[in-house]
Amino acid sequence: MNNRAGFLEKLESEVENCRRCSLYKTRTNIVFGAGPANAELMIVSEAPGFNEDQKGVPFVGAAGELLNKLLKMTGLKREESYICNILKCRPVTSNLENRPPRSEEIEACTPFLDRQIEIVKPNLIVTLGRYSASYILPKIGYSFRSMAGVHGKTFRGCLLNKAVTVIPTYHPAAALYNPKYKDAIEEDFRVIGRELEKLFNTSRLRCGLSDRLWQVQEKKDMKLPRSIRSRQPIL
Ligand code: SF4
Repeated sequence: MNNRAGFLEKLESEVENCRRCSLYKTRTNIVFGAGPANAELMIVSEAPGFNEDQKGVPFVGAAGELLNKLLKMTGLKREESYICNILKCRPVTSNLENRPPRSEEIEACTPFLDRQIEIVKPNLIVTLGRYSASYILPKIGYSFRSMAGVHGKTFRGCLLNKAVTVIPTYHPAAALYNPKYKDAIEEDFRVIGRELEKLFNTSRLRCGLSDRLWQVQEKKDMKLPRSIRSRQPIL
């Protein structure tokens, strides 16, 4: 197990025992997050709903299917991104219906999200809906007033000591309930696709450079130190 996966596993065990807010009383499962521990793209949404709480997995059901389709438009499979939420337990009304997160729950739970970001170190964060946009954007120095003002825009900044790009968009559930959001969310995912293309081209370029440098080094001589001859990454 690599270090990042190990750190995520430890953090998940901590969340499983969490009682920092009252949502632990009504949860069936925590929904910690899913995806590769070294993903380039992290998707941060709001909170688990009924299906997620039952299965312990983010984005199952109709909104999950729509998210998968939107991700496909970017050329990325769902399994290639790390998906998580602001809250790890489902917020419910007294009738056990879904409800939006409360500020005290966000305050209690987001230290876990911060640690996920620190471990995964994504280059691109896509926020889904107003709760995640209004949490992440101020952390990189931008104010949040409304989804209409920020969706589909590219924000660059430093988050937890790492350069990061943030693109907010609407929650896929909004597009399911109100078709007026469908075009906007699809257009936003086109922007996300172009940003990912830039990211992957940059990393391909870095790998290509690395390979070319190694070919030159290897031809030059064998006087290089042993640590370098062993083809350690040099970039
Ligand atoms: S929502 Fe977060 S803070 Fe509240 S009990 Fe669940 S894991 Fe803990």
